[in-house]
Amino acid sequence: MNIPLLDLKIQYQNLKAELEPVIGEVLASGEYILGKQVLAFEQEIAAYLGVKYAISVGNGTDALVIALKALGIGEGDEVITSPFTFFATAESIAAVGAIPVFADVDEHTFNIQPEESRKKITKRTKAIMPVHIFGQPCKMDEINQLAKEYGLHVIEDACQAIGASYKGKMAGGLGDIACFSFFPTKNLGCAGDGGLITTNDEKLAVICNAIRQHGSGKIGQAAYNLLNNTEETLDETVDSGNALYNPLKYYNFLIGHNSRLDALQAAILRVKLRYLDHWNGKRIINARYYNESLKDTGIKLPVVEDHVKMVYHQYVVASEKRDELAAFLSNKGIGTGIYYPVPLHLQKAFKGMGYKEGDLPVSDYLSKRTVALPVYPELTQVQLDYITACVKEFMNA
Ligand SMILES: *Cc1c(COP(=O)(O)O)cnc(C)c1O
Repeated sequence: MNIPLLDLKIQYQNLKAELEPVIGEVLASGEYILGKQVLAFEQEIAAYLGVKYAISVGNGTDALVIALKALGIGEGDEVITSPFTFFATAESIAAVGAIPVFADVDEHTFNIQPEESRKKITKRTKAIMPVHIFGQPCKMDEINQLAKEYGLHVIEDACQAIGASYKGKMAGGLGDIACFSFFPTKNLGCAGDGGLITTNDEKLAVICNAIRQHGSGKIGQAAYNLLNNTEETLDETVDSGNALYNPLKYYNFLIGHNSRLDALQAAILRVKLRYLDHWNGKRIINARYYNESLKDTGIKLPVVEDHVKMVYHQYVVASEKRDELAAFLSNKGIGTGIYYPVPLHLQKAFKGMGYKEGDLPVSDYLSKRTVALPVYPELTQVQLDYITACVKEFMNA
């Protein structure tokens, strides 16, 4: 039996009849970037997440970069984050000229430890960026408390946690600002790159909106006014008339980015958003099945905290014989994934920062022991049975 770690083709087959007409509509509309589809998607996802503002962008990495810039974080500032995450988390911090400072994770949930974060706070610390790894929200009460004590911003990297919640509140509304990715393999993925920033802060929303489109036009002016405490308005003569040629676009108020969502992606995401809770529910059912079937095998199962809804972006187990297990499953036709083989403090790209093996022992340890099993919503019972039988066969050998 061949079971990949994730199968996006089944999802497409299941949605084909719904997706193809909306794709055709977008192509016929002539409106390809931002526009009505994107606006409708932003409104729908803001409502779903229970946040006031949702600003779509080109990808999850840009969402993080733009959120950091909107908070005024840059050269010389420090941002505390997890070393046990996808590279983009810390890359975004470095990309704005700030310094990622790594605090070790909890060995059971793989999420950043608030107490380790506290030890890393200095005069230069401006923010903390918790990552809801594999779909499990971090200890947000403790993190927000820490932020309050030291006057720090909280930026959620919620790229793996769309639909997850903490004490009844959705990930994406648990800090000052949050970032999501719609990379195809995420729990809500588009047919290409896409990302989202969410916040309840109007000022941050306006600034993010301006930054994603070259700081231009009316939104650029509004962001400029907010940042400079002025009430300037564009010359009215500039704003009049010709709908085809929008001169406002060529008045720039901030140095921004070109990072917008395509209408095609928004249209696809609008269809898929309606299935997200169902898909996450299936992931949870699959995870429960593994938990039950594998509990006596000696493999270390995922730990989910109380008051948390985890959405199992990945179902990650740990074993002293991780590499042998992954090879064994591969021989049986089962796809697995190693998240993450190199903790970020030991990445070559960050070698100038002076970390060495052993500095963040839990992350070092996990990087050698964790492996993800397929948990995608379309897995059948036959496939789940086969996977658990193979894991048991290896563990009992
Ligand atoms: C996927 C991911 C990102 C980056 O998103 P992209 O859309 O690929 O740029 C950032 N952080 C985490 C934790 C992710 O899983």
